Amino acid sequence: MLQRFAAQYEELRLGRYEWNVPLSKYTTWKIGGPAELFVEPRGKEALAQTIKLLYEYRLPWLCMGRGSNILVMDKGVRGVVIHLAEGLDYACREGDSLVAGGAYSFIKLAVLAGKEGLTGLEFAGGIPGTVGGAVYMNAGAHGSDVSRIFESADIVLDTGELVTYRVDDMQYAYRHSVLHGRLGIVAEARFRLEHGDRKEIAAVLASYKERRLRTQPFSSACAGSVFRNPPGDYSARLIEEAGLKGMRAGRAEVSTQHANFIVNTGQATAHDVLTLMKRIQERIKTTYGIELIPEVMVVGER
Ligand SMILES: Cc1cc2nc3c(=O)[nH]c(=O)nc-3n(C[C@H](O)[C@H](O)[C@H](O)COP(=O)(O)OP(=O)(O)OC[C@H]3O[C@@H](n4cnc5c(N)ncnc54)[C@H](O)[C@@H]3O)c2cc1C
Repeated sequence: MLQRFAAQYEELRLGRYEWNVPLSKYTTWKIGGPAELFVEPRGKEALAQTIKLLYEYRLPWLCMGRGSNILVMDKGVRGVVIHLAEGLDYACREGDSLVAGGAYSFIKLAVLAGKEGLTGLEFAGGIPGTVGGAVYMNAGAHGSDVSRIFESADIVLDTGELVTYRVDDMQYAYRHSVLHGRLGIVAEARFRLEHGDRKEIAAVLASYKERRLRTQPFSSACAGSVFRNPPGDYSARLIEEAGLKGMRAGRAEVSTQHANFIVNTGQATAHDVLTLMKRIQERIKTTYGIELIPEVMVVGER
């Protein structure tokens, strides 16, 4: 089936594809086994056609953006990995809104908003994912998140149908959206912003950046916060207070800079990271009676 899908994908010229691609090349953790088939549809229509074909062939698929919030298992991903790339990597201004393709960098979008004198996206200045990943995750920081500025998104449903969702359709909550139910893929999103002062926006972006560089292991291989914050508290505070900074499993280490980050110190496996996550969860449960829930998405063959 996969072979037949690939042949048709090629025949319809839907985009680039490759067999057995190590996903460690496409995740910020630099961890992950191979994708059986890795495809990069070359635009919105090609993406819709790809999903339609996958639906017809009943093949499993997974969508990836920048890979900055996923842990791909060492055995890799069976079926098709859809990587949003070139044809969906665009952004422009329309009135007081910014419209961007699912593959566009969320950090670049924050910078573009600033240049356009539009405020509301400053929080995104240090979130190293794509627009699609941010819409999926309801990514947020500095007291704001996607739900505050989200206007609409063009979503390719798992049948290949292209629909537009507005904010009320998204079921937004803390790091959660309706998309977590494997609804489909964000091809394009629109964000409603407000007029602001360019210099002030630039100053806010610079101060957020400075804070991140000081408090997060930004240049290490990591995937941001590993656990969601429990209600009324911070996972990082609990992990640090429990004395777990620097704890290791194989080559995975609890960051000494930010306790809710796990860094790949070199050649770490997904197994190392999962082992470390489990140990952290156990210690926090026995010390504080709190269940830490992963924020990172664990994908692939276990
Ligand atoms: C150093 C660092 C700092 C970070 N700081 C923050 C932070 O402050 N706040 C925060 O919220 N996050 C933070 N993150 C996590 C991460 O950047 C965000 O969750 C980001 O939104 C994920 O986007 P992505 O494109 O990398 O998604 P991926 O990691 O590729 O995918 C994440 C999930 O989204 C799905 N997905 C991806 N693209 C699409 C799409 N187009 N349509 C449908 N589903 C899709 C995937 O299937 C997967 O389930 C940080 C990460 C790093 C490495």
